[in-house]
Amino acid sequence: MSLKGKRAVITGSNSGIGLGITIELAKAGAEVVLNSFTDRAEDHALAERIGAEHGVPARYIAADMSKGEACRALIAQAGGCDILVNNAGIQHVAPIDEFPVDRWNDIIAINLNSAFHCTAAALPGMRAKGWGRVINIASAHGLTASPFKSAYVAAKHGVVGMTKAVALECAGQGITANAVCPGYVLTPLVEAQIPGQMKVHDMDRETVIRDVMLERQPSRQFATVEQLGGTVVFLTNPAADQITGTTISVDGGWTAL
Ligand code: NAD
Repeated sequence: MSLKGKRAVITGSNSGIGLGITIELAKAGAEVVLNSFTDRAEDHALAERIGAEHGVPARYIAADMSKGEACRALIAQAGGCDILVNNAGIQHVAPIDEFPVDRWNDIIAINLNSAFHCTAAALPGMRAKGWGRVINIASAHGLTASPFKSAYVAAKHGVVGMTKAVALECAGQGITANAVCPGYVLTPLVEAQIPGQMKVHDMDRETVIRDVMLERQPSRQFATVEQLGGTVVFLTNPAADQITGTTISVDGGWTAL
């Protein structure tokens, strides 16, 4: 099914999973609005390149997802959206009794509050059209926990809970809300950690990936940004019209353990 005529806003989409999702949505014919907090020539060039490659309108709008007004302004500046992908996220790892307060606040603001503000701003336009998709990129950490990731686990569980509430508020209105829960995904950020881990553990690349990084992922394989993008595109299809208020894990079996 073509997404021609549908506008998608993807927060935090100038790298990693957000970029992968953007490209799959563009491939499917959607107009795409990319976002991050930077406002560099290369950010705008990235949007232009995606638009040209896939023959769809594409724009980059800078907005800091840690700020509520900026989230709402992003949706307004985009002209509303039919598909909202709340993807922007950051991580910090520390024991809870040493967790820096500013890092806690940033994680809750970017990973959870931004999804609230963007959803609140996007829903009236979706309701007016009688069609909409709210797709929140949560995590396996929206369903399970790991030590030292209290803020991230709290934010991602919050995203999963909010997704259910939004689904109920929109039920029967042509609008669905779902959370995609990736396990470990091979993004540039994760790729960059591999050489350091190889050194620390004195292991080759394959062993460090299988035995250290993917220790909790039974498939012992990373999920890819293309697979995440494909999952998001699936949720926009008519086949997914009655899939709402739920989570879809893309985690190689992590949450089955
Ligand atoms: P990434 O660092 O490559 O991407 C994060 C994106 O968010 C970037 O585009 C970054 O610029 C943007 N961002 C950060 N702070 C922002 C802010 N204040 N305002 C606007 N944009 C901001 O990381 P990623 O791995 O692609 O993560 C994307 C999402 O997927 C996150 O929500 C993350 O929690 C989730 N996730 C990632 C993995 C993984 O293994 N990589 C696993 C589960 C969930």
